[in-house]
Amino acid sequence: MRASVVVVGAGEGERLGGNVRKAWVEIAGRPLWWHSCRAFRDRERIREVILVVHPQDLPRFEEAPIARLAAEAGIGRMVAGGASRLDSVLAGVRATDPESRDVLVHDAARPFVARDRIAALLAALDSHPAAILATRVSSTVKRAGPDGTVAGTLDRESLRLATTPQGARRELLLRLLQDAAASRSAFTDESSLLESRGEPVTIVEDEGSNMKITTPDDLALARARLEGGPPRVGYGYDIHRLVPGRPLKLGGVAVPSELGLEGHSDADCLLHAVIDALLGASGLPDIGEHFPDTDPRWKGADSSRLLESVLALLRERDLRPLQVDCTLVAERPRLGPWKAVIKERLMELLSLPADRVAVKARTAEGLDAIGRGDALAAYCTAVVSSQGRS
Ligand code: MG
Repeated sequence: MRASVVVVGAGEGERLGGNVRKAWVEIAGRPLWWHSCRAFRDRERIREVILVVHPQDLPRFEEAPIARLAAEAGIGRMVAGGASRLDSVLAGVRATDPESRDVLVHDAARPFVARDRIAALLAALDSHPAAILATRVSSTVKRAGPDGTVAGTLDRESLRLATTPQGARRELLLRLLQDAAASRSAFTDESSLLESRGEPVTIVEDEGSNMKITTPDDLALARARLEGGPPRVGYGYDIHRLVPGRPLKLGGVAVPSELGLEGHSDADCLLHAVIDALLGASGLPDIGEHFPDTDPRWKGADSSRLLESVLALLRERDLRPLQVDCTLVAERPRLGPWKAVIKERLMELLSLPADRVAVKARTAEGLDAIGRGDALAAYCTAVVSSQGRS
């Protein structure tokens, strides 16, 4: 029986500071919701992931880069949340496919939920109508008295800290949420709603690493975890001769021009510079060693395919691009009008947001081979970092 997942990220989250809603705080170049949704990639058991966002944020998903991130995170639908957490959860659960037997509700502020814990929760739901993830308590827990002294010590063996996701039969959860909304009851999690109606809730042991991001300190910890080690910088340069009868491809974009670039592959000068910068940042041999121009496999090759295989090489080493900064130098054709579309394509190829990709264009002031219009050159600086855990 496949389950639906509702990830709730509709809150204001002012405690994190700044004027960005919590779900949109960036970690490793991606919004928090991206990390929290991507954990649910088990397409065997999970039918759909629905993200509940603040109503003002819903239109942002019409922007191409945000829509792309949502697709990358496996989000099927975005719905607008309500004034309270309960209203937001209800909106999300209502939007789930009625064919799903179970619904998991997850907090968008928990980007570290482990995939094997999700699997364990789903397994528990096969034999129980409701189940939650919860961790054991490692500290000794005191009850504080009104005068600020210790009023007692709780038996930590019997204590659990509830995390998310929390799961239940869709029909049961939807009914209880609707009742609670009608009676304006408040619950801090789905489990307390189920408990209040006498529904048994099974506990599945969670890991302490499934932290909730609430304070700026939590955010700093999450960034340290997901952004991995120190950034590595690489540099790439390429130049190709401009000749008649060849296409001009730059950054994977076909630029209309009387002259194109001479070369063994599609001669995409910019992608070659990007590839060399990524390889350099990763301490790998240069593009010529990976794709020699004596190898017939690369004759006429689409350089975006070459870039894909370089990204796969990086992934094998637990690395990914964080940022690229590119400069194109050409006397002709004038590339200024093409900067924006080339940037869009690079963002897509590298799965990077707009503020992590720059494409600049300039001429050589008529000075050298480029200045005479005989060649076109590209430069790129890339920043690469460890993948982190997401
Ligand atoms: Mg080249």
